[in-house]
Amino acid sequence: MPIVPVEVLAASAGVPPERVIKLDGNENPYGCSPRVQRALAGYPYFHVYPDPDQRELRKAIAGYVNVAPECITPGAGSDEIIDLILRLFLDTGDKVINCVPTFGMYNFNTGVCGGKVVVVPRNEDYEVDVPAVKAAIDRRTKVLFVASPNNPSGNITRPDDLRELVETGILVVVDEAYAEFSGVSVVPWVARYENVIVLRTFSKWAGLAGLRVGYGVLPAGIAAHIMKIKPPYNVNTAAQIAALESLADIEYLRGRVQAIVDERPRLYRLLRSIAFLEPLPSDANFILCRVLGGRAKQVCDALAKQGIFIRYFDTPLLRDFIRISVGKPEHTDALTEALKKLG
Ligand SMILES: *Cc1c(COP(=O)(O)O)cnc(C)c1O
Repeated sequence: MPIVPVEVLAASAGVPPERVIKLDGNENPYGCSPRVQRALAGYPYFHVYPDPDQRELRKAIAGYVNVAPECITPGAGSDEIIDLILRLFLDTGDKVINCVPTFGMYNFNTGVCGGKVVVVPRNEDYEVDVPAVKAAIDRRTKVLFVASPNNPSGNITRPDDLRELVETGILVVVDEAYAEFSGVSVVPWVARYENVIVLRTFSKWAGLAGLRVGYGVLPAGIAAHIMKIKPPYNVNTAAQIAALESLADIEYLRGRVQAIVDERPRLYRLLRSIAFLEPLPSDANFILCRVLGGRAKQVCDALAKQGIFIRYFDTPLLRDFIRISVGKPEHTDALTEALKKLG
């Protein structure tokens, strides 16, 4: 389910856009680096096409994650890299293993690319069921997706579990959209294994969700193929500038990430103090909560009326759950105040 823009949310709640507390999209409440705003305002060459080889951007990202530039493929969000990987590896009817509940794009893009999704549910702690994944692999299986930290459950996949999966030889795509909030990454594995791809993005930690810029870290041979099949100008000039300026302002942005990481346990404690909520521990910038008494929708709607927006789940695996992005301290305060009144 796609994200609803702030103006639409504001109109639905009858509050001005600046009063909206948007905790439904795991976006960065502090916004992007001010250097991004300044660089975009003063850029003189928007009339010229961007570099299709993305040389400067690949080099800067390579420096950030400490791999060779040949191993980086930038995309219009990491969503685009998911699509490109599946286009490259899937023939019609090939299988993709999806460890649910998880991010929706693996299922969506597999369908678009003519693949068949093999669903392997996570265990009761939302950990990947390694034996079940291994048992599901056959000769039509081309890709396994593992989000770590997982969205929406917030937990990382233990490196030992990931290693066991990688050692099956199947192509493992580790989606690290939230790695900057967990401090855990398997990017160094890309140099060691031929079947590991890591996805990263500027959307969450760098506050660039609206500009669409993410990347894959891939074995150089696979990266070269992706560069060949991608649309030449897939990352627009504004997005490339924004990513470069973010990496040039890394200390500032790390401070913002730290503020969110520091706020996470406070939000968790306050959610735990609400009688009808059972929050799950999280390594990301959001917290999944079970809502007791079948009240998840009611809670969401009541918050929305006050201009506080969170994500609501009502699927067989997530019946009566909500997901709340970690915001600024004042967002936590407003949210908990509103939740307490719902008693
Ligand atoms: C938000 C999210 C993404 C999307 O990132 P974009 O770079 O904005 O496309 C990818 N994976 C997961 C697990 C996410 O939650």
